[in-house]
Amino acid sequence: MAACIFCKIIKGDIPSFKLFESDKVLAFLDIEPLSRGHALVIPKHHGAKLTDIPDDQLSEILPVVKKLASATGAENYNLLQNNGRLAHQVVDHVHFHMIPKPNPEEGMGISWPAQ
Ligand code: IMP
Repeated sequence: MAACIFCKIIKGDIPSFKLFESDKVLAFLDIEPLSRGHALVIPKHHGAKLTDIPDDQLSEILPVVKKLASATGAENYNLLQNNGRLAHQVVDHVHFHMIPKPNPEEGMGISWPAQ
């Protein structure tokens, strides 16, 4: 969708720090991280709500989260999907937040390998 900011990121029209990409899914760093390493995992299919996204794209999301966790050694994180305005969804392209939980003894969060 032409006006969608995440579709522009998928196309490369807006720069992002990409963590993973396949034909169905893209993961990149959130521009306003809640903790260090805060990532967004999105289906490439444009749709605002979970019900708009084909199952074959949704079913790749959790394996990508697993890959990111394995790659970084992240053990403590929240996985969050805001669905709808009342649930605080701002960007109308389905996305899953992967938000590392800071370890008080190690700083503000995890580091992705390329960071
Ligand atoms: P929502 O409230 O679940 O819709 O969250 C949208 C998220 O997208 C927020 O955490 C924003 O910081 C993030 N975001 C918005 N624009 C960009 C961008 O251009 N690059 C990366 N993250 C973005």
